[in-house]
Amino acid sequence: MNADAQGGVETHCPYCALQCGMTLVPRGDSFEVAARNFPTNKGGLCRKGWTAAALLRAPDRLTTPLLRRGPDQALSPASWEEAVDYVATSLRSIQRGYGPNAVGVYGGGGLTNEKAYALGKFARAVLRTKNIDYNGRFCMASAAVANQRVFGIDRGLPFPLSDIPGADVILLAGGNPAETMPPLMQYFEAQRAAGGKLIVADPRRTPTAESCQLHLQLTPGSDGALANGLLHIAIREKLIDEAFIAARTVGFAAVQKSVASYWPDRVERITGVPAASLIQAARLLGKAKNAMIISARGPEQQTRGVDNVIALTNLVLALGQVGKPSSGYGCLTGQGNGQGGREHGLKADQLPGYRKLSSTADRAHVAAVWGMDPDDLPPPGLPTMELFETLGQRGGVRGLWVMGANPVVSAPDAKSLEARMAKLDLLVVCDLFLSETAALADVVFPVTQWAEEEGTTTNLEGRVLYRRLALAPPLGVRSDLEVMHLVATALGREQYTSVEPRAVFDELGRASAGGKADYSGITYAKIQAEEGVFWPCDAAHPGGTPRLFAERFATPDGRARFFPVEYRGPAEQPDEQYPLYLTTGRIMGQYQSGAQTRRVEELNAAEPVAFVEVHPDTAAGLRIQDGALVHVETRRGRATCKARYSRAIRFDTLFMPFHYAGRGRANTLTTTAVDPVSKIPEFKISAARLLLANEDGRDATTLK
Ligand code: SF4
Repeated sequence: MNADAQGGVETHCPYCALQCGMTLVPRGDSFEVAARNFPTNKGGLCRKGWTAAALLRAPDRLTTPLLRRGPDQALSPASWEEAVDYVATSLRSIQRGYGPNAVGVYGGGGLTNEKAYALGKFARAVLRTKNIDYNGRFCMASAAVANQRVFGIDRGLPFPLSDIPGADVILLAGGNPAETMPPLMQYFEAQRAAGGKLIVADPRRTPTAESCQLHLQLTPGSDGALANGLLHIAIREKLIDEAFIAARTVGFAAVQKSVASYWPDRVERITGVPAASLIQAARLLGKAKNAMIISARGPEQQTRGVDNVIALTNLVLALGQVGKPSSGYGCLTGQGNGQGGREHGLKADQLPGYRKLSSTADRAHVAAVWGMDPDDLPPPGLPTMELFETLGQRGGVRGLWVMGANPVVSAPDAKSLEARMAKLDLLVVCDLFLSETAALADVVFPVTQWAEEEGTTTNLEGRVLYRRLALAPPLGVRSDLEVMHLVATALGREQYTSVEPRAVFDELGRASAGGKADYSGITYAKIQAEEGVFWPCDAAHPGGTPRLFAERFATPDGRARFFPVEYRGPAEQPDEQYPLYLTTGRIMGQYQSGAQTRRVEELNAAEPVAFVEVHPDTAAGLRIQDGALVHVETRRGRATCKARYSRAIRFDTLFMPFHYAGRGRANTLTTTAVDPVSKIPEFKISAARLLLANEDGRDATTLK
């Protein structure tokens, strides 16, 4: 369809961090999505993007606030006045009784920059609580920490996507864009067409791995050993760039020493990857004119997530493959605005512009923009899993405000989280639909969605994008900005809120000025004129910064850092009781907790329910047929779903998508063990067992 001829509205997809450009075209009472030739997706969309307009006319859209008027009562419609008054009164009462930090705030990586900024300010300036974090903690927190430590700045990809085709060799560690971001594959296809090679490290032979030249099918949790092993070979075979190491880095000697024991035979034993493949991969990377290493959730969502990423950056730095076109380390952000969310205040320790709550100068800058005394800004708060641990506990969080997230599906050990949420004095959820988390709330505020409001997001390249207002929201619905303003007004602190996205974005620019994620030179008009603007963008760099690190890194001395890392296994190793690895991830037709995509008919028709992928030989040993109803069990609990045979998975590994609620909820099973620094949970590895279930799914025949 030719969108221009149809008079559509140019916008971006509401889902993942590729933020594909699309056009919304009116069709009678509803809308259709049309392709748009935006520089990132070049007209491509995945099936989620093509069907995104269905969200705009979803029949179960919330259009009135809901209130639970008593502990045993169901949620029922309320006026905005009643709901806002109830929330303000409850917040006051909790904070009077237990202190300001007894109220927590939990945001989402899909919120626009304006809403993320406003929510961080709402928590710290209106509620005066230190306890705010967001579901980006579950996404790329490990890569964020590693990027900060190694390069001094955290931007998912420090280069534009258009650099990918020029790379001779790319190592993609734990990412499956062929299913999660299909339009991204055109860059890898262009790279291959130009003679480039793609190496994929993944325990599953995913559709992405199918398309690569070398698949390293490693044991779950062995990513750090794999990267150390590749560096060991590169050093041994004199493939490293000593001039680059000397001129632009510090700390290599300690890393060289630390990888000395990662000889190929040992790494083969740890990772299960043949030594010959390790040598082949190291030679491909080491001899490439331009090489890239890109990671995704595979190595990152582990208790060694930061170490795993640093092991990869050690490799790319030693090869001298950073700071020039078509080279470098990058991370594929998952959520639509996971990048912008943490840059502008959703993370427990960060202020807008990637400023730090622990810095006196940063606090003073932001407090001045907000018109408050820096001493009144709270200190850094608790990261998500620690915050969730305290819910409803003595001395913990007694009131929780959730905006743009559905943690009872997306958080690990979700059953325990549900139990803790039930102990809260107040749970407020702002959402489009009655999500599984909203269903537990005391108050639900119905809010606008992507095409019903304007705002900006920051994609996986660090490119700031503009989403237009395409249609009026349903009657009775308000924007998240309005909800915060209403509650702030009821609390007597409305001066810290604004209902106008443009005003919020202007203020965000001032708050970020001089910070690492500097947006002060970005305007809505510039974004539209230039098809996105890469941060940092200030008066000195009005055109933005598509490629970082050409001359210096963002560390105080301008040099990148090496850090030695030792391989240690995951928190849970398979044992006699739970003999398999369980790993979780995304599939093509669903997105995150499924709160949106499970409501889109075409998507649900393709993948309506959860499943567990199992190697047929493993299943045969358990007398489990393809399609049989099975229980997957870990130390946290049991999920029930259909078995799906796959020869693409290792014999010792199960895979479950995490988009589903109910008895197929993968996060009933996952561990709460976290990386000690990034605090990301180890979604990728739990020790599990598989049991045949009876037809009703209630009983199991224990087979080992
Ligand atoms: Fe939307 Fe991501 Fe699919 Fe693009 S790849 S259409 S942004 S879900």
